[in-house]
This record gives sequence, C-alpha cells and structure tokens, in this order.
Amino acid sequence: CGIVGYIGHRPAFPLLIKGLKRLEYRGYDSAGVALLEQNELQVHKRKGKVQELEDLVNGRSFSSTLGIGHTRWATHGEPNDANAHPHFSADQNLAMIHNGIIENYGTLKTELEAEGYEFRSDTDTEVFITFISDLQKTLNVSLEEAVRIALTKVVGAYAIVIMSKDDPNRLIAARKGSPMVIGLGKDEYYVASDASPIIEYTNEVIYLKDEELAIISRDGLEIMDTQEVPQQPEIHKLDLKL
Ligand code: GLU
Repeated sequence: CGIVGYIGHRPAFPLLIKGLKRLEYRGYDSAGVALLEQNELQVHKRKGKVQELEDLVNGRSFSSTLGIGHTRWATHGEPNDANAHPHFSADQNLAMIHNGIIENYGTLKTELEAEGYEFRSDTDTEVFITFISDLQKTLNVSLEEAVRIALTKVVGAYAIVIMSKDDPNRLIAARKGSPMVIGLGKDEYYVASDASPIIEYTNEVIYLKDEELAIISRDGLEIMDTQEVPQQPEIHKLDLKL
C-alpha cells in the first residue's frame, strides 16, 4: 500500500528499501522493486515483509541509479510472489508499480487476451501495464503518450510509477485518487505515497494532483494533465522538524 521511486546519481536500491520501510506503517502483504541493470529491467519481489525482500537479494549490490519499489495491499489476486509488484509488460520492456484499483480491468483483460496476451498474475495492475504497452505499440507513440491515453480509458483509482528498459533517464508517474508526492533533490527526484521516505533527503516537494502525469527525468520535471495541457507545479517546503 505504498510506492516509492528514485532517479538520480546514487544507487537506487538502498534508497528504495529504506523508503519502503518508512511506508511499512501503512500495512502491506508483499514487497518488491524494479531496477535497470545492464540495460535489462530486473524485478525482485516477494510475499511478506520488506526484510524478506532483502533476504531474497541476499546482500547483492545493484548499480541502477533509478528504480521503483512497492508494498502491496492485495485487492485483485491473493497475496503471493506472482501477484506482488512491480509488474512487467508482456515484452518485459516496462515495469510498473500501482496502488489502487482498476475497476474496468476485467473488460480490458478480455480484450487483451483476445489479442493473444497471457498474464502471469491475477492483478488489475498487470492488465494496466499490458494495456499501456499495447497502446504504445499499436499507436506507435511515446511511452508518456501511451500512458496518457491509457489514463483516459481506465476507470478507478491509481498512483503509478513506470520505468522503461529503453529509457534509463526517466520515470513516468501519475495519480488519481491515490496520493503521490514528488521530492526535488539536487539532480535527483524521489516519488512516494507520502513524504515519509523523502523528508530525509529534501524539504522541497510537489503534490501531484488528481489526473496529472509527471515525466521525471534526471535533469528536469514535466507535469501535464490527461488532456496534454502542461501544468505549473507548485513547490511546497516541508517542515523538517521530525
Ligand atoms: N490492485 C492492486 C493489486 O491488487 C494494487 C493494490 C495496492 O494498492 O497495493 O495488486
């Protein structure tokens, strides 16, 4: 029931784990991360506590300077390793974390299955990322455009962060109903469900508004609404008294 993301100049994995631990108070049944290692997306995920995710990777170190992490509160599909996030697109070019519920996932799933897609999990989230990936291919558009179009077609609540194998310099984030905060560092950005994983690194944050989409690059941030209208983000200063 929490999301965290990082893009910058530091190794992402320790930051993600720490962030997930800060979000533990929200409650969850599974945890996972996605990283970009040697130009391939890697997903490590597991039912249980964040500590069990750490045990799974067993002290391995990762070089990825961007990544996404998730704690899941199951709504569609039982708590197990396969249903834990992040979820891959069918071609494994995209990985996504999601908090919330996609209400029309059943219809989308049926349509995608008719096109030949097979699913590895029972989640609405895997349907969502498969839908985005399929739109990107069939319409031959950029990832952010595919995400934007998908957001106009899904019904429900979401806070999502997506990373792409083909773009090591960007995270795409969006929300509706579920909360999302973006922390502004020095040539680095944090994304999280609330400020608790961010507060240690920066006191400058943006609260993403409902139905906004953020393109978070290493060197800048762009926000638009689902009609493609650029939005001027309002920067808030957090009170750092802990
Ligand atoms: N609906 C998604 C699932 O069941 C996300 C749940 C959550 O918010 O953690 O996997």
